[in-house]
Amino acid sequence: MGGCLPSDMIRFDVSALLKAHLGQSLTLNIDTGPQALGELKVDYLRGTVRVFRIQNGLYVEGTVQTQLRLECVRCLEPFAFPTALELDETFRLSEADPRFDIPYAVGDDGWLDLAPLLREQAWLAIPMKPLCRIDCKGLCPQCGADLNREVCTCERVQIDPRLAVLKELL
Ligand SMILES: [Zn+2]
Ligand SMILES: [Zn+2]
Repeated sequence: MGGCLPSDMIRFDVSALLKAHLGQSLTLNIDTGPQALGELKVDYLRGTVRVFRIQNGLYVEGTVQTQLRLECVRCLEPFAFPTALELDETFRLSEADPRFDIPYAVGDDGWLDLAPLLREQAWLAIPMKPLCRIDCKGLCPQCGADLNREVCTCERVQIDPRLAVLKELL
């Protein structure tokens, strides 16, 4: 089924590891093109992840390089945000395992889907106020012109915020 769903590139058959001795491990290579991690778009995911068989679980660790597609809070233009996602997480051996303090589980088909974990880490990597560049000039509050690209003719008056409050009262 499915076959070419994009997320197949971040799903791995770990069924052999489920039956393996404690301490055994698998190395997973991730190298994808553009992906959707839920609502997040990334240009690529690249890295090496090691999966260890531990008591009652699998331990996943590694670093995945990616580039997120974000929208600048000032000019509203999309831009690329390269970052590294650090993985350090325990997975339950099956979805039926009731330890709900461990949010991730290996699928009951024996496949490890890294998408939910990568999505979570990607969200954590997003800055509070994403900026296309540190000195982004943003949009003109009056005419909406992108001030990185053009100069509009609107009068630019620096209003003291305390005076602005007074002005609204008048
Ligand atoms: Zn911007
Ligand atoms: Zn303007």
